[in-house]
Amino acid sequence: MNKLPTRILVTGGAGFIGSTLVCQCLEQKNVAVLNLDKITYAGHRLSIAHLRSNKRHTLVEGDIANSILVKRLLSDFRPQAIVHMAAETHVDRSIEDPSVFATTNVLGSCVLLEQTTRYWRQLSGEESQNFRFLHVSTDEVYGSAGQEEVFDERSLLRPNSPYAASKASAEHFVRAFIKTFDLPAMVVNPSNNYGPRQHPEKLIPKMIVAAVRGKPLTLYGDGMHQRNWLHVSDCCRGLLSALIYGDRGDSFTLGGNRSMPNLQVVEMICDVVDSSLNDGKMRRSLITHVSDRLGHDRRYAISSERLMVTTGWYPQISLEAGLRETVEWYLKHPDWVEQSK
Ligand code: NAD
Repeated sequence: MNKLPTRILVTGGAGFIGSTLVCQCLEQKNVAVLNLDKITYAGHRLSIAHLRSNKRHTLVEGDIANSILVKRLLSDFRPQAIVHMAAETHVDRSIEDPSVFATTNVLGSCVLLEQTTRYWRQLSGEESQNFRFLHVSTDEVYGSAGQEEVFDERSLLRPNSPYAASKASAEHFVRAFIKTFDLPAMVVNPSNNYGPRQHPEKLIPKMIVAAVRGKPLTLYGDGMHQRNWLHVSDCCRGLLSALIYGDRGDSFTLGGNRSMPNLQVVEMICDVVDSSLNDGKMRRSLITHVSDRLGHDRRYAISSERLMVTTGWYPQISLEAGLRETVEWYLKHPDWVEQSK
């Protein structure tokens, strides 16, 4: 294909990664995006409010599990590609209420795959050949990495949390649709993202918001759980590179250039907030250790080598610069934080 398709259906485009991806797509002058999002507690109309007057962006508030709606949208919009990101995404919520994750992440993905297959089968010629379905999975499907272990596309799926299990299950459905129906689908497994417009339930924005408010910065266990941090704009460039260069059955693991224990990330956040607010406070003193999360994965580590070699993509934003930008964004958008459900 070697260029971005001009009609892209994005699911979950009012969420954190989705809103960035939609913006990156629309930066290309000839691209139109149909954004299917249920606007759950995690979907944020404000995150895409600046696109209201953009005629190349349409938001449809609806559920990926609604087969009648999905069928109609596919036949009306006639996408050349689908980027599937809609999901329930918070591990803590998946521990409290696992079945919601099965409903959206497994059943919803299956409905979308089924309708996509029907739609794709009635395309012909170049339209059929060039069509792509990109499923956004997660590195959490691989479970916890050993001391020296680095996950890549060949790693086994060994999910530990109900969230990871639901994402792994959806990934199996994608592979089954590729094998059974020849669907031109591919999978990308990104690592932990951070950046503007992430729901304050997630580690980095949660800590920024608490640090600004002078509240305790509660960290699970000893805080030595290691994550590979990827700036959301690097992630979306990676996803679009995979969409452009990837082929039926391809998979790519996608990580940032920095792994770090959570405690160190939170200390960095404290220092950035201290220097931004310049009020003489030392926010590291707010760090409070609480009981560990059930089944908490100790370490994630991921290689992006295949994506880099295949597409030329590489992460451009350092964790230091990305965290400074992210803290500034949250400081400038208290209204967005207030409206997060
Ligand atoms: P998010 O929670 O911020 O956004 C999810 C979006 O999906 C929301 O806008 C929500 O309204 C929408 N949604 C939920 N259920 C829906 C349904 N049934 N129908 C239609 N829309 C629905 O999530 P995110 O952090 O932007 O993650 C996006 C994708 O990337 C997810 O598939 C997630 O598993 C994956 N991922 C995220 C990360 C990360 O660090 N954030 C890392 C790796 C992979």
